[in-house]
Amino acid sequence: MRISHWIDGKHWAGVADRTGEVFDPATGEVRAHVDFAGAGQVEEAVAAAARAFPGWRDTSLAARSRVLFAFRELLTARKDELAKIITSEHGKVESDAAGEIARAIENVEYACGAPQLLKGGFSENASRGVDVYSIAQPLGVVGVISPFNFPVMVPLWFVPNAIACGNTVVLKPSEKDPSASVFIAELFAEAGLPDGVLNVVHGDKVAVDGLLAHPAVQAVSFVGSTPIARYVYETGTSHGKRVQALGGAKNHMVVLPDADLDLAADAAVSAGFGSAGERCMAVSVVVAVEPVADELVAKITERMAGLKVGDGRDPSSEMGPLVTAAHRAKVQSYVDAGVAEGAELVVDGRDIAVEGGGFWLGPTLFDRVQPEMSVYREEIFGPVLSVVRAGTYDGALELVNANAYGNGTAIFTNDGRAARRFQNEVEVGMVGLNVPIPVPVGYYSFGGWKDSLFGDSHAYGPEGFHFFTRTKVVTSRWPDPSQGGVNLGFPRNT
Ligand code: NAD
Repeated sequence: MRISHWIDGKHWAGVADRTGEVFDPATGEVRAHVDFAGAGQVEEAVAAAARAFPGWRDTSLAARSRVLFAFRELLTARKDELAKIITSEHGKVESDAAGEIARAIENVEYACGAPQLLKGGFSENASRGVDVYSIAQPLGVVGVISPFNFPVMVPLWFVPNAIACGNTVVLKPSEKDPSASVFIAELFAEAGLPDGVLNVVHGDKVAVDGLLAHPAVQAVSFVGSTPIARYVYETGTSHGKRVQALGGAKNHMVVLPDADLDLAADAAVSAGFGSAGERCMAVSVVVAVEPVADELVAKITERMAGLKVGDGRDPSSEMGPLVTAAHRAKVQSYVDAGVAEGAELVVDGRDIAVEGGGFWLGPTLFDRVQPEMSVYREEIFGPVLSVVRAGTYDGALELVNANAYGNGTAIFTNDGRAARRFQNEVEVGMVGLNVPIPVPVGYYSFGGWKDSLFGDSHAYGPEGFHFFTRTKVVTSRWPDPSQGGVNLGFPRNT
């Protein structure tokens, strides 16, 4: 099977100089080859988006939102098919893929409200006979660059809002699971989106660099690992573009001594091993405030023993494989390093036996992890949960705040005052109070702090609309000719 670009409303018919392999992670087999864009295909896609821009910008709000409503209906109708596509290239279990699509639909629903959301302000008689009002206009061609771990949700954090605001888009999805983006582009076309408004180019750094340097690309929304997010932010802004670049994470779940430890253990296992830990909001560190660590570790271990790891297409599987052999090897190298550095390996997932040649790694648990160990410092992005023992609430808070990342965090407690203090003091962008994966709903915005986000706009919701528009303020006066006269003074409001 060949997966290729979608440019100007059709599948690209050329022959690619370079291609990449796309695996079925549960079998380890190559299921497809994906074309990698060179400078020429990036140019074709940006040119198509630039040509489509004037017409789309001038399309009425009613017509734009009608396309989004139609897309929502098609996406809802075809969600099972799309979930299977996600599972076949990413490996996550189908029910998890369905959850990703449900959260993506929230963003489409938000964008359907564009006519309401794009209303500006109007001040009648700001000065005598003078009205002032603001309008929000689209930027032009925008680039969206997405990671492998949410091949539907992350593109749909940006694409619906960008086009609702009147922009045209070039999407560069992850080369590891590229099929979902093409499926989305086809559904948009069926929903009535004009040719060129959404284009998809596949590939790697060459395609990304092409977008970052292209003078017609006005803005870039990026999601991926921190080193690449930093690079995209610095390169894009140095080319004069507006950039939001969301990076990696190391999410801590703090468990206070008064918490219900069964609920906390359920949450740690669900949020630590769901999607094999390949979520930017996965819990990767449990901070157990003493004296609860022994009991909490025992409860987590007990739950891990019951987890069913297997092919995501089998409805009884709870956790699938890792995305590629290379990623599996990287995650395993962190487990090896944790052992070498002296962390206590409570559950070892390295030798898990699952049928087939997939990229399997079982749920793994470390206890007595120290902050200087690589398993603590670095983002592993796999099914590896670390427990750090803290003496006090203050020690736990200090640990979370000293971490370089600040994407998500959670606290488990029955003490409202302690939770409220945490919400106020913690230096993290998304906080859960007894909620382990606090991904904001579509009408708030998603984003971390510190090394988890470069730029000042979070993704989707109100900040998404802000990112994809620029405002213009109009000051208007319709004077009577008798009110003329030269006046060199600075205009004052009377
Ligand atoms: P990645 O950084 O390897 O890739 C992300 C995108 O950048 C892909 O489209 C890829 O093709 C491109 N890319 C890769 N190397 C590049 C390079 N050298 N130059 C230019 N472009 C390059 O990330 P990934 O492995 O696909 O995804 C996992 C990462 O994404 C994790 O770190 C995870 O935490 C992060 N993530 C963050 C969020 C968030 O909202 N903060 C959400 C999802 C995933």
